[in-house]
Amino acid sequence: MELEPYSTARDEFQGGDISIWLDANESPYPNGVNRYPDPHQKKLKERVAALTGVAAESVFIGGAGSDEAIDIIFRIFCTPGKDNAVAIAPSYGVYKVAAAVNDVSMREVLLNEDFSLPVERLLSAADSHTKVIWICSPNNPTGNAFPKEEIIEIARKFNGIVVVDEAYADFSGKETLLGEIGKVKNLIVLRTFSKAWGMAGLRAGMAFADPEIIEYFGRVKYPYNMSSMVQEELMRHIEKGTGGHIPEIISERDKMAAELANASCVEKVYPSDANFLLVKVSDADALYDYLIINGVIVRNRSRMPLCADTLRITVGTPDENLRTVSLIKNFYE
Ligand code: PMP
Repeated sequence: MELEPYSTARDEFQGGDISIWLDANESPYPNGVNRYPDPHQKKLKERVAALTGVAAESVFIGGAGSDEAIDIIFRIFCTPGKDNAVAIAPSYGVYKVAAAVNDVSMREVLLNEDFSLPVERLLSAADSHTKVIWICSPNNPTGNAFPKEEIIEIARKFNGIVVVDEAYADFSGKETLLGEIGKVKNLIVLRTFSKAWGMAGLRAGMAFADPEIIEYFGRVKYPYNMSSMVQEELMRHIEKGTGGHIPEIISERDKMAAELANASCVEKVYPSDANFLLVKVSDADALYDYLIINGVIVRNRSRMPLCADTLRITVGTPDENLRTVSLIKNFYE
C-alpha cells in the first residue's frame, strides 16, 4: 500500500525537554484546549491494553465510536467499485451503509432460522473480490453470540479479513474472540465504549488486530481523530470503572425476559447475550405505537429479515423495565 500517513507536528518531535511549543500553529494562550491532542492516544491505548490483555500495538481507538473503525476497514481493504464484502443478516445497519458510502457491494447472508451462524453459506458467498466478512457477536438485533470455534473456522478458511463486532460482548457469558488477537492474523475485533462502559455520548470505539493491520488504521484515520477532552474524559471514566452496571443489566435482562414471556401478546422472547431483548409479538406495529403513546420508545425490527413482528427492547433501569413490562402485559389488541 502506498499510503503515507499525515505526519503531524507532534509526530516529528521525539523526546527532549521542550518548554516552548512553536511547531503546530496553535494558539499559545492556555484555555484548556489550545493544544492539539495526542494523535496516537498513547496513554489511552496503554490503559486499554492493560485492561484487555491485548498489546498496545494491536489497539486502535476511534473518535466516532466503533462506526469510525467500520468505515476505516472498508477504506483500507476494499477497492471501490471492484471489491465486495459479505455480512450476516439481519445485523447492525452501519456495515451496509459504510459499504455503500465506500462503493463496495455487500452480500448479505441470512442467518439460519434459529439465528445460528451459517458457516458454509458465508464462506461460499465469498469470491476472489471479497475482502471482508462481517460478523456481529452478540448480534444486533437477534441478541445471540456465536460460538468462537465457528468464527475461527471462518477466519481459517477465508482468504481475507474477518471482522467480529463485539459491541455487546460484556453482557455475554460466552467466550469472545479478543483472546485470538495475535493468533488469528486476519481477525479484527471491534469493541465500543458506548454500551457496557456507558459512554455513548463521548463517541469512542476500539478495534483490535494484528499490529500490521493497526498500522494501516493509523495511515487511513484523520490525524487528530479524538479530541483531548474526550481522551481525558475516557481516562477519567476508565479509572472510575464502568459503574458496576453490567451485572445489574444482565440480571434485569433475565428478569425482564421471564416476565415478558408471560405477556399474552408475546409469542417469543429470544435468548439474549446483550443488553437488549428481541421479542416476537402478535402485532409489532400496533404494540410499538401503543408504547409510544405511553411514553416508551423501543425499536421496531419487524422489517428486518427473519424478524417479522419483533421489537428490540433495550434493558433500562429497574423502574423503566417494570413500567415497560407492565404496559406490554396490559396491551390488548
Ligand atoms: N456495533 C453494533 C453491533 C452496534 O449495535 C452499535 C451501536 N448501536 C455499534 C457497533 C456502534 O457503536 P458506537 O457507538 O461505538 O459507534
